[in-house]
Amino acid sequence: MRKTKIIATLGPRSIDKVKHLSNYVDIFRLNFAHGDEKTHKLYFDLIKDTKKEIPILVDLPGPKIRIGDLKESILLKQGDRVIFSQKEGLPVEDPKFFQLVKENTDILIADGNIKIKITKVGNDFAEGYVIEGGILTSRKGINIPKINLDSGITKTDLLLLDEALKLGADYIGISFVLSEKDVLEIKKITKEKAWVISKIEKVQAIRNLRKIIYESDGVMIARGDLGLEIGLEKVPFIQKRIIKISKLLGKPIILATQVLESMVNNPMPTRAEVTDITNALIEGVDAILLTDETAEGNYPIEASKFLSNIINYSEKRIKHSSSLPTKDPDDAIAFATINVADISKVKIIIVHSRSGNSILRVSRLRPSVPIIGICPSKELARKLKICYGVIPFYSKRKMKNINEIILYSERFVRKKFRYKGRIVITGGDPVLKEGRTDFIKLHEII
Ligand code: PGA
Ligand code: MN
Repeated sequence: MRKTKIIATLGPRSIDKVKHLSNYVDIFRLNFAHGDEKTHKLYFDLIKDTKKEIPILVDLPGPKIRIGDLKESILLKQGDRVIFSQKEGLPVEDPKFFQLVKENTDILIADGNIKIKITKVGNDFAEGYVIEGGILTSRKGINIPKINLDSGITKTDLLLLDEALKLGADYIGISFVLSEKDVLEIKKITKEKAWVISKIEKVQAIRNLRKIIYESDGVMIARGDLGLEIGLEKVPFIQKRIIKISKLLGKPIILATQVLESMVNNPMPTRAEVTDITNALIEGVDAILLTDETAEGNYPIEASKFLSNIINYSEKRIKHSSSLPTKDPDDAIAFATINVADISKVKIIIVHSRSGNSILRVSRLRPSVPIIGICPSKELARKLKICYGVIPFYSKRKMKNINEIILYSERFVRKKFRYKGRIVITGGDPVLKEGRTDFIKLHEII
C-alpha cells in the first residue's frame, strides 16, 4: 500500500478523466484562480459523482497579479519594448500592479520564463523591455520579486472561500500567506469545515515560518513562486526547513510544483525529476502535488502513474528514523506505539481518534506499516487522507471504553482485511476528553 499521497490538479485537459486518474490519485485539487462559480460547481459535481468520498483541495489565488485576457498568444523577443496598461499593450488584471511595481525592477512572468525590465511607471501604465523572451498567453502570473505586501488575503479570496466551503471543500490552500494572521483570518471562517493549508511562497512567509505552520492544519512547499521570490538555489534548503518544522509540529506537508514538469509534453519524466521525488520521499513529505502535469499537460494519466510507481518503489526501501519530537506525553505514547509495532513485527497500526490528533501524532513519526485511522465523522476521515500512511475509516459506533475499542478493532481488521496476527492499537480513552493519545495495546488476532 502506498503511504505518500498523490494530489492531482484538475483542469480542462483532465476534468473528464477523474475516474481514470483516481486509480492513482488520493486527492483532487482545484485552483480557484481559474474558472467561475459555474465551472467550480461543475468540477465539484463531476468529482463527487465519480468518487463520492475523495477529498478536494481548493486553492485561493491570494494577491497574485496576472496578465489579463489576450486575444491570442504573443511572442516576446529579447529587446522588445513592452507597455502594460488597460488601454494598449499588455493588459494586467489588477491595477494595483502599477502601484506595486517600481522603475528599474525585473519582473517575472509565467513562472519566470519571461523577464522584463521595467523602466518607467505611471499611474496606469508601466513600460519596459524584454530581457528574456517567450510566448505569453492569457492570465499568466506576474511576479515582482521581494515586494512586501500588507495582507495575503484579498476580497476575491473571501468570496471564493465562501464558495469553496459551500461546495464542500475539505482543504483550503491559501496562496502567498504572509504571516499567521492570514491563517487565523481564514480559520475564523472555515472553523472545522475545512483544513487550512498554508502555501509557502513569499520571503515574508519564510520570516514567519514557524508561527505560520503552527497555526495551519498543513503546509505546501509552493516551489514555483517560492523559487522566483528567493532564487532557485535556495529552494532545496527552504524545502528542508519547512519539512523539519512541520514534522516537529505534526502538520502534513505537501510538496508542489514541477514535480514531473517534463511530462507536460513527454510521456516519460527526466532522471532529475525522479531523483527529486525520491529525495522528497526520503525527507518524508506526506503528499506530492501534480499541477500543470495533470491540469494542462498532455500526459495526465501517465504522470500520475509514474508518480505512483516511483513512490511504491521507494517506500519499500526507505526506512524513516524517527526520534521523539517533543516532550509531550501524548507524543510519547505515539512514539512508543510505532516502536512496539516495529519490535513486534506488527503489520497494521490501528488508531482510534475522535479529533484526529492521535492519527496525526502517529503519522508524523512515519511508521513503516499502514495506519488504520478510525474516526467518528466522514468529514474528518476525508481530511485525514492527506496524512502519510493513513487509511482513514469512518465509524458511527460510539465506543464507551478501551475494551470496546480493542474488540471493535479486532472485528474490524478481521472483516476488512481478513487479517490474523498481531496488531497495535492506540488512541484516546473515550471516558476522557477528546484530543489525547493515552493508551497502547499490543493485541493478537488468532
Ligand atoms: P500555484 O502554487 O500553482 O497556485 O502557483 C504552487 C507554487 O507556486 O509552487
Ligand atoms: Mn504559487
